[in-house]
Amino acid sequence: MGLDTAGNHTFVNPAAAKMLGYSPEELIGQPSHATWHYSHLDDSDYSEHNCPIYSTLTNRRTFSGEEWFIHKDGSFFPVKYNSSPIIEEGECLGVVLSFSDISEKKQAEEKIIHLAYYDSLTNLPNRVLLMDRLSQLLTIRSDHQQSALVLINIDRFKNINNARGQTFGNILLQATATLLLKLVRDGDTLARMAADEFALLLPNLGSQAEVCGRDAHIVAEKILTHMEQPIIINNEKISITASIGISLFNKKIKGGTDEILRRAATALHRVKDTGGNQCSFFETDMSEIVEQRFLIEKELHEAIANDELRLFLQPQVDSKLQLFGFESLVRWQHPERGLISPGIFIPIAEESDLIIELGEWVLQKALSLSAKGDMAGHPFRLSVNLSPRHFRKKNFIPWLKKIFNSTGADPNHLILEVTESLLIDNINEIIAKMHELSSMGIHFSIDDFGTGYSSLAYLKRLPIHELKIDKSFIQDAPLNTSDAALVETILSVAKHMGLNVVAEGVETEEQASFLKQRAKVIYQGYLFGKPEPAGVWFKHWFDDDFT
Ligand code: C2E
Ligand code: CA
Ligand code: CA
Repeated sequence: MGLDTAGNHTFVNPAAAKMLGYSPEELIGQPSHATWHYSHLDDSDYSEHNCPIYSTLTNRRTFSGEEWFIHKDGSFFPVKYNSSPIIEEGECLGVVLSFSDISEKKQAEEKIIHLAYYDSLTNLPNRVLLMDRLSQLLTIRSDHQQSALVLINIDRFKNINNARGQTFGNILLQATATLLLKLVRDGDTLARMAADEFALLLPNLGSQAEVCGRDAHIVAEKILTHMEQPIIINNEKISITASIGISLFNKKIKGGTDEILRRAATALHRVKDTGGNQCSFFETDMSEIVEQRFLIEKELHEAIANDELRLFLQPQVDSKLQLFGFESLVRWQHPERGLISPGIFIPIAEESDLIIELGEWVLQKALSLSAKGDMAGHPFRLSVNLSPRHFRKKNFIPWLKKIFNSTGADPNHLILEVTESLLIDNINEIIAKMHELSSMGIHFSIDDFGTGYSSLAYLKRLPIHELKIDKSFIQDAPLNTSDAALVETILSVAKHMGLNVVAEGVETEEQASFLKQRAKVIYQGYLFGKPEPAGVWFKHWFDDDFT
């Protein structure tokens, strides 16, 4: 075909036109980009001058290369072309181009690439491609993003292969690949590493090692359970198991991809040594943490039903050491492990709706204690910690109203402690809910104030009555000037907005007097009383155990 100096088709031979799906007449006068896809140029670069055909015009030299042609039906096909200038009487009139379709050659190349990067038996990425993805992961992600490499090895595969023959073994490997593929998510890479070994790369699980460990563990457990399901090969049922080694890493790992692989392999061999059919982390403490979390989550479900939760109260006093109120703090009386602190099970409960079940138990219990106080003639304020997840629940308010009705508790005695994390999204909806509860007489307190990123603008819009200064600031304030400054700022913000301040974790006289010198606050801390079962404090303050 020929193009003029403006890049329009001047002549097209019938064979070339046919290849493009046109008749020669249709193409004459059309611009070259109707048929040429300048794949090396993006739209913003498109100009005559960066185009190789035009360099033929300007340089008056023959030029050859590879490009994509656009067929009339919109599809692309690769071509190899030669372009030469048409020169008459010293003037360049255009270019003449010859080309050939190289689709087959390209396909052959792709096949070679496929052979180099994919396993021919299972069609999965092979070790080379996995290592490649692994090293890409180490270059592009942020320092803190954790990923996991999971190595999966079929137990006793050699025995099966020897006893039943290689064909059987191959079918088994294909079946395993199919099964594993069903369990992976978009973005994960499942590869075949060696005869009976697969690898699963779980990229960017998050920044918290514990949470990532749990996620990788869930995937590994899922694989183990699915592997145990019998597979039918040649009308024969066969059951296999697998051993799994996991390593968590981020881009800071020393030793790069080889080290990651070595770690996962070490974990895998540990499992093999103990008989297989299990998973293990290279980071052994991770195995324990994940195991613990798993167990706690499972047992916590039953704990609520088995009445193993206990509600403790911690007193809050004013500067004259008069009782101001109590904060309710939950504990778990485990039948074997004894009293477990909420610091251990609340974060786990918060990852699922378990926290709602737990929160409902706490509120029900707290409101019935509050009602008992009123009945006994000892009314007291009671602060209850409320998880954002629970607060966000659709029917939270109707549910709470029901509990007020059934217990007979007075909403004016309840303080709901919420954290700044409640205010991250759907702020308008949250504020509306807070106003509704506030109009019932319920008070709000911002817990752990100073650890989040509250904007003062938001605080002004919220119906809150109280700020609780986090114990980390209180404890260091007498010694550390920046903590002292922060406490002073909170005190002045609270004063400005007319809010109560509760200082948490007051343990020493120094801490108490630091505060006393600066503002009128409410004190909560071991110096004034630890969390104890309600009866202990009722006896102390009211000389009456009405629990
Ligand atoms: P929090 O709401 O900040 O509770 C204060 C924690 O500080 C309590 O720990 C309390 O025992 C402890 N504390 C009080 N005074 C002192 C002190 O002088 N020194 C020291 N070192 N610690 C002091 P606890 O009871 O282990 O509770 C831990 C966290 O668990 C609570 O922190 C709260 O976030 C959560 N939590 C407890 N009960 C509940 C509940 O019923 N629901 C929800 N959603 N979370 C709860
Ligand atoms: Ca609290
Ligand atoms: Ca707190």
